[in-house]
Amino acid sequence: MSIQIFGLPVSRGVAIGRAVLVASSRVDVPHVFIDPASIDGEIARMLAARDVVSTEFETLKHDLPADAPAELAALLDVHLMLVQDEALLGAAADWIRQRHYNAEWAVSAQLEVLARQFDEMEDAYIRERKVDLEQVVERLLRSLSRGVPSAVPEAGRNARDFGGDEPLVLVASDIAPADMLSFKRSVFTGFVTDVGGKTSHTAIVARSMDIPAVVGARQASNLIRQDDCIIIDGDAGLVIVDPSPIVLEEYRFRQRQSELERSRLARLRHTPAVTLDGERVELVANIEMPEDGPGALEAGAVGVGLFRSEFLFMNRGGDLPDEEEQYDAYKRAVEAMKGLPVTIRTVDIGADKPLEGLSSSELRHESVLNPALGLRAIRWSLSEPSMFRRQLRALLRAAHHGPIKILIPMLASQREITQTLENLAHARRQLTDAGKPFGEVQLGAMIEVPAAALTLPIFLKHFDFVSVGTNDLIQYTLAIDRADEAVAHLYDPWHPAVLQLLQSTIHQARAAGKGVSVCGEMAGDPAFTELLLAMGLRSFSMHPSQIASVKQRVLRADTRRLATAVDKVLACEDPEAASAELFAAAAISVPASKLMTAV
Ligand code: PEP
Ligand code: MG
Repeated sequence: MSIQIFGLPVSRGVAIGRAVLVASSRVDVPHVFIDPASIDGEIARMLAARDVVSTEFETLKHDLPADAPAELAALLDVHLMLVQDEALLGAAADWIRQRHYNAEWAVSAQLEVLARQFDEMEDAYIRERKVDLEQVVERLLRSLSRGVPSAVPEAGRNARDFGGDEPLVLVASDIAPADMLSFKRSVFTGFVTDVGGKTSHTAIVARSMDIPAVVGARQASNLIRQDDCIIIDGDAGLVIVDPSPIVLEEYRFRQRQSELERSRLARLRHTPAVTLDGERVELVANIEMPEDGPGALEAGAVGVGLFRSEFLFMNRGGDLPDEEEQYDAYKRAVEAMKGLPVTIRTVDIGADKPLEGLSSSELRHESVLNPALGLRAIRWSLSEPSMFRRQLRALLRAAHHGPIKILIPMLASQREITQTLENLAHARRQLTDAGKPFGEVQLGAMIEVPAAALTLPIFLKHFDFVSVGTNDLIQYTLAIDRADEAVAHLYDPWHPAVLQLLQSTIHQARAAGKGVSVCGEMAGDPAFTELLLAMGLRSFSMHPSQIASVKQRVLRADTRRLATAVDKVLACEDPEAASAELFAAAAISVPASKLMTAV
């Protein structure tokens, strides 16, 4: 029977495909597609882990004290039987063969299948054996994590490699940003998660992949089963499981329509973003990896406004990239952008972007109760000065090869500004002493904490430019965890407090003759284009896939008319409704033919 699940729309469009469930587990499980040549090796790796665990159980049983309760020995026998049961590892081997999952993923996927079977058992005693199965799998996963890691995934594979012609869509309770990164350029054509908010980092990476996604769908990973046919409506935030033929046909039609619309918009790619009254607007890209550069250029970006460098630090078991590796990555990003400016943000680890497996002091940020308010971003960098200076040296050296702007996340106070500047000066001295060439950089501050927006003159004194991180500015102004779907309905970019901070930041930066840009998700949402233009913003940084839609709005805008409406919008109790009305009145209707001659 068809069911509908509602969540939050985070990435537009329609995806139709077969569900691939990624199970959540108490052990941190890497999810990678292995190379077909590694299938036998991966199965052998899994069986070796089984042998290790079996031996552990046998040793435990052998070493049981003579007076141990008889149930304990019986329990170990059950665990031994479970770990050797074909229903677990035989079926997991099939996942490896047919879907090319790595061993950890295959074992946890099979646990999910078996756990559901246990849940459906009539007999309470047998139903409770699910806990034993989970414990056995946890041991297996821990054993796998101690052994040789899986082979590296292959990029750009398609669903046919996985035993079927249908597209695949990913369904999970949660997907860590690091996992999302490894799914980038993989086979999936859509994502659904139980948790997450619209600007959680998982949603942001989904958007950067430009595929339909719904987050905060609560029970989705319990209601959907492996291989179910599902529709993801990324515009409405709706997931339809097992749709009827009529609904399926309707969505296939909408899918074709949205593809047509995209290819129509793509024709605006190389049209300069200039408003009707001749104001030039800079549309630049948010990227996660140097490899995203060519896609940004292809989408018409005139530079990079936000390279989230922390993604270079993920998926490496907590081993941080050294100076050479970072230098090479930043240099590649600069070269990929062919002389256009590249804004690289220093590492923003913490909150919903934890680093796996870090030791001692580096782990502190994960231990706090509320990581969004904890040792995050510049706070972490300043607490690890040698790591911070390593990154600054790599950035300064890469600036020798092209225009780099360094952007510092989450600054809130004068003291942090002073320490940041000292570290930068120190990094320059170190490079001079070592005789290594480096280039000039512009230095920018992210304005994403209300304290920074409210004391902007201090920032304008020390920095060449500011970039407003609206995702965090909204989170910290409204005290709404951006990654928590339970409060997602309260996360409101239209809140007058947010709009006032935004407007005053843009206004003061312009008055001081400093560059100002917005790089949060608001910049890429066409619903805000007129408002931001009206506030005086001329630099928007967003995922490459959003550039064409925003450009279309820019081409139709007259900033003089918009500017006259902005104060009225801000004075209203409901700025969202007022903006639709007032900006519509200020808009000039442009015949489509005129727009297309601009192409
Ligand atoms: C922001 O907070 O708006 C921003 C761009 O940074 P991030 O989303 O990476 O926190
Ligand atoms: Mg931020």
